[in-house]
Amino acid sequence: MSLSCPTCANSQLHGTTLTDQLPAESCPDCRGAVLSLIHYRDWRDAHAAPEESVADAGEASHVDDNKAMLRCPQCKGFMTKFRFLADAANHIDHCDRCDLVWLDHGEWRLVEQLARSGQFAKVFDMTWQKRLREEQAKRRAESRWREQLGDDYARAKELRGWLAGHPRGKELLAYLFLSQTEGA
Ligand SMILES: [Zn+2]
Ligand SMILES: [Zn+2]
Repeated sequence: MSLSCPTCANSQLHGTTLTDQLPAESCPDCRGAVLSLIHYRDWRDAHAAPEESVADAGEASHVDDNKAMLRCPQCKGFMTKFRFLADAANHIDHCDRCDLVWLDHGEWRLVEQLARSGQFAKVFDMTWQKRLREEQAKRRAESRWREQLGDDYARAKELRGWLAGHPRGKELLAYLFLSQTEGA
């Protein structure tokens, strides 16, 4: 059975390989691809190198990301959008019922290292997503402080690390705090 593209109106998907014989179905028009996570897991067991670290996808932002809710090419139900790294803006659409994902053109390149390290299927579980949200919140807080403190940020961060590991950290902090509020 041939599947139709979830983002193009009337395009049929054709068999292709993403990397090293990982089978997928791709759209000749938008060049997106459907990947079955069942196929991915088989491929991972045969090809992935678990020791490879996951590179950050900082260059990810220029790859197009489909913002619309997509319908699964197989069951036609709505797919869920998942972020995969804290510093990547893109989302990957996943169908829970069919266990397959839609990759917009170029997105495979963004997740390829994740896939090679054997971690790609984990993106779609709650633990990964929870950790990602925590990481994002931490980064947002950090960039707010960086903005507020400007050139002093690095120094403040260093001082903070020193206080955190200090047995009399609380007393030192109280001393610094009082020197500000009491002008002592
Ligand atoms: Zn298409
Ligand atoms: Zn489906």
